[in-house]
Amino acid sequence: NTPLKEEDPELYQLIENEKYRQYSGLELIASENFTSQAVIEANGTALTNKYSEGLPGARYYGGNEYIDEIESLCQKRALAAFGLDPSEWGVNVQPYSGSTANFAAFTALIQPFDRLMGLDLPSGGHLTHGYQTDKKKISTSSIYFQSMPYQVDRKTGIIDYDRLEENAQLFRPQLLICGASAYPRDWDYARMRKIANNHSAYLLCDMAHISGLVAAKEQASPFEYCDIVTTTTHKTLRGPRAGLIFFRRYPGEDKKTSLETRVNQAVFPSCQGGPHNNTIAAIAVALKQAASPEFKEYAKQVRSNSQALAKKLNSYGYVLATGGSDNHLVLWDLKPQNLTGSKIEKIGDLVNITLNKNSIAGDKSAVTPGGVRLGTSALTSRGFKEEDFEKVAEFLHEIVSLSIEIQEQCGSKLLKDFLAAAKQHPKIPELQQRI
Ligand code: PLP
Repeated sequence: NTPLKEEDPELYQLIENEKYRQYSGLELIASENFTSQAVIEANGTALTNKYSEGLPGARYYGGNEYIDEIESLCQKRALAAFGLDPSEWGVNVQPYSGSTANFAAFTALIQPFDRLMGLDLPSGGHLTHGYQTDKKKISTSSIYFQSMPYQVDRKTGIIDYDRLEENAQLFRPQLLICGASAYPRDWDYARMRKIANNHSAYLLCDMAHISGLVAAKEQASPFEYCDIVTTTTHKTLRGPRAGLIFFRRYPGEDKKTSLETRVNQAVFPSCQGGPHNNTIAAIAVALKQAASPEFKEYAKQVRSNSQALAKKLNSYGYVLATGGSDNHLVLWDLKPQNLTGSKIEKIGDLVNITLNKNSIAGDKSAVTPGGVRLGTSALTSRGFKEEDFEKVAEFLHEIVSLSIEIQEQCGSKLLKDFLAAAKQHPKIPELQQRI
């Protein structure tokens, strides 16, 4: 029982370095957050030692009496956090991540080569929603199923529901997916349901990014309209890294063909093995927290902060996709500044501002996208308010102005030349100290 610090000082130090990096800089990655000490504690427990294939009360291994209680508690809290009636909804809490949750849900709903439609990645959708390029099927969701993505309107940045409806007439999907990774507005779930109904398709929402806001009623709830709702647990929900699949129970359904049976079988044995019990315990802690009044305040603050950030960036004349934000993220188009998202991501790293490059609808390449994605969930967990985010916007304005200057001075548009020049610039150490 030697502590990590003594057993493996090299690894211990690397973890300490990462902890310092996380807490000393400005964390603006929209898919990240800072979990509580309680979540981290639960995640690092002896529960990781246990095998428990199966479900509470029906396991393939002995010794699961406490694991059963933990998983059942997690299920109960998951339904409670989203205000769901257990006679109408159930949940599987075993998916290892959002991607595996999605693949298991697709496996439960449709057959190989069936047709699905999700938001295209360059429009803000996730890889697992059927992403493919002209040349290649990238995700298992386009390799094993036929995918026809839908897009946002290039002018407004808002989902083009009319075009989706028209294309669905041609493609006749069996599964329609809503939810996104880089979409700053809420969804019209009623419209999505209507389009799905036209083709007797299932409607699945992947609310990974916004699930914390949905729990706090700061975004519309997809549960009213969807058959299945998936989510990650580590973004706005502020838990450990994992996934959940919620499935609807229909009155009078046959248990054998119910979504419950299909989802549970798809997770195990179709897609996964033994559940990660330490993670499930940590999810249970996060869900208890998500149902608290403090979390509701937090989620409200996340949104106000995102709006304050968007407003301040707009005041400098920058272009934001859809013009602003209704949730926790801002999608910033840097093409008018003649910059790429990669350059701002790299210069951000140099001065301890962590953000990520992101494509903006209409970009030519997802490899050199024209914008960046900013999120307010992590820094709001650290207590940032609107005025702090105005300051963050000031820093961002400074690094963009500096990037324009560096790009002009180095006379090259290449990322490597830009980075070399940035590293020499006297303003970088000064900014490093101020941030
Ligand atoms: N779904 C959405 C909408 C996401 O944004 C992400 C990750 O960013 C995922 C699924 C995948 O989650 P994970 O990284 O846990 O596999």
